[in-house]
Amino acid sequence: MSETQNPFETAQAQFDKGADLLGLPDDVRQLLRWPLREFHFRIPVKMDDGSTRVFTGFRVQHNDARGPSKGGIRFHPNETIDTVRARATWMTWKCAVADIPLGGGKGGVIVNPATLSVTEKERLCRGWVNQMWRNIGPRMDVPAPDVGTTPQMMAWMMDEYSKLIGNFTPGVFTGKPVDMGGSLGRTEATGYGVIYTVREAMKHLGLDTKNSIAALQGFGNVAQYAAIGFVEMLGGKVACVSCWDGVDKKPYTYSHPAGVDPRFLQSITDQYGTIDQAKAAAAGYVKEDAMAWIDKEADVLIPAALENMLTAETAPRIHQRVRVIAEGANGPTTLEGDVVIKQRGIFVIPDFLCNAGGVTTSYFESVQNDMNFYWNKEEVLQRLDHKMTKAFHDVLEMAEERKVYMRDAAYLVAIDKVVRSMRLRGWV
Ligand code: NAD
Repeated sequence: MSETQNPFETAQAQFDKGADLLGLPDDVRQLLRWPLREFHFRIPVKMDDGSTRVFTGFRVQHNDARGPSKGGIRFHPNETIDTVRARATWMTWKCAVADIPLGGGKGGVIVNPATLSVTEKERLCRGWVNQMWRNIGPRMDVPAPDVGTTPQMMAWMMDEYSKLIGNFTPGVFTGKPVDMGGSLGRTEATGYGVIYTVREAMKHLGLDTKNSIAALQGFGNVAQYAAIGFVEMLGGKVACVSCWDGVDKKPYTYSHPAGVDPRFLQSITDQYGTIDQAKAAAAGYVKEDAMAWIDKEADVLIPAALENMLTAETAPRIHQRVRVIAEGANGPTTLEGDVVIKQRGIFVIPDFLCNAGGVTTSYFESVQNDMNFYWNKEEVLQRLDHKMTKAFHDVLEMAEERKVYMRDAAYLVAIDKVVRSMRLRGWV
C-alpha cells in the first residue's frame, strides 16, 4: 500500500481491480465500493479530575451480506473515518476468504489510550457501547480488540451491553479474556494460521520444510507464534526476528549462529514484543540493523510487524533464495513493492488470507458463546487448521484457474463470495 495514499482509496482501488477481473456490473460495484452503514458519534467521559472530555467514535459496517459484521475497535490518535472504512472493507474480504459466515466492520475512537487512567478507559469503553448498543449484537455486528484496545476492555464493553439489553450476551464482543468467555487458542491463532498456510504453500512448491529457513520481521503476538510454529510444526529453522527497542528508540534484527530459539526468545520478551537486549546478548544473539531481516538467506520471509515494509526500494533486497512471502502483518507490501515481488516470481500468501487465523478464532469464540459450551485448545487449533488449509487451497485453485497472482486470486474468491450472497438475498 502506498504510504501517501488515503487507505480507503487504496481499499477501493484494490476492489476496483477485482471487480474488473470479475466483470461486475455497476450496481454491485456501487454497493461494495462504500460501506453499507456508518456511525459517527460523540462520547462524553467523566475524567478522574471531575472534568468531562468528549471523544469522537466511529463504527463502520462495510457489508453484512454473509452474516453479522465483524471487526476490531481501535483506540488511536490518528484514527479517521477513512482508516475505519478501509479496515472495515478489508474485513469483508478477510471473512469471505476465510469462509466464515460474517461480514466486515471496524470501529474506532480518536484517543491515545496511554493518556487515560484505567477508570477513564473503562468509562470510555462503556461510553462507546452506550452510543452503539442498538446497532451491534451477536446477530448484527460483533466488535473485537484492535490496536490500543485489550481483552479487559472487551469484557467491560460486553458487561455494559448485557446490562443495557438486560441479558447476559457474551457473544456480542470477541477477544475477551479466557476467564470471561474468550476462546482458548486465540493467542496462538494468527501466528499458527500463518504457518498452516506456509506449510501448504511449501507443499505446493515442492519445498522440504525440514531443511527450510524462515526470516521474520517483528516479535509480537503474530511473529512469536509464527516462529514457534515454523520450528515446532514444520521442523524448520528461524534465521531472525526483529523488534522495536523502547530504550534505544529504534528497531533491531536479532539472529543467532545456531538459529533462533523462539520459545527462549519469547521468555525474554515483554507484552509489547520487545526483546530484552542484555539477556539476548548473554545467550549469544547477534543484534543487527533493523532491516537485516529482509536480505537474510531464507526460503520463507514473514513480515509480521508493520505495514509498508516491502517497497520498491526494499523488495529488491530480498534474498535470491526466498520462495515464499507469508504476509503475517496487515498491508506489509506497498503497491510498488508488489510489482517487484511479482516480477521476481516469489509466491505470495496475501495478508487477508495469511493472517485470517485471528478472525477465524474470534468466530469460534462467538460460536462457543452461543452454545455456552467451550472447546479445548486442541479442538480450536484443529478446526483452525482445517479452515486455513481450505481457504489457502480455494485461493490457489483460483490463481491457477484464472492464471492470476495470489493476491488477485484472493480478491476474486472473496468478492465473488460476497456478491453471491448479495444476489441470493436479492440485494442486487
Ligand atoms: P504486536 O504489537 O504484538 O507486535 C508488533 C511487533 O513488531 C513487536 O515485536 C514490535 O517490537 C515490532 N516492531 C514494531 N516496530 C518495528 C519496526 N520498525 N521494525 C521491526 N519491528 C518492529 O502486534 P501483532 O499483534 O503481532 O501484529 C503484527 C501485525 O499483524 C500487524 O500488522 C497487525 O495488524 C497484524 N495482525 C495481527 C493479528 C493478531 O491477531 N494479533 C491478526 C491479524 C493481523
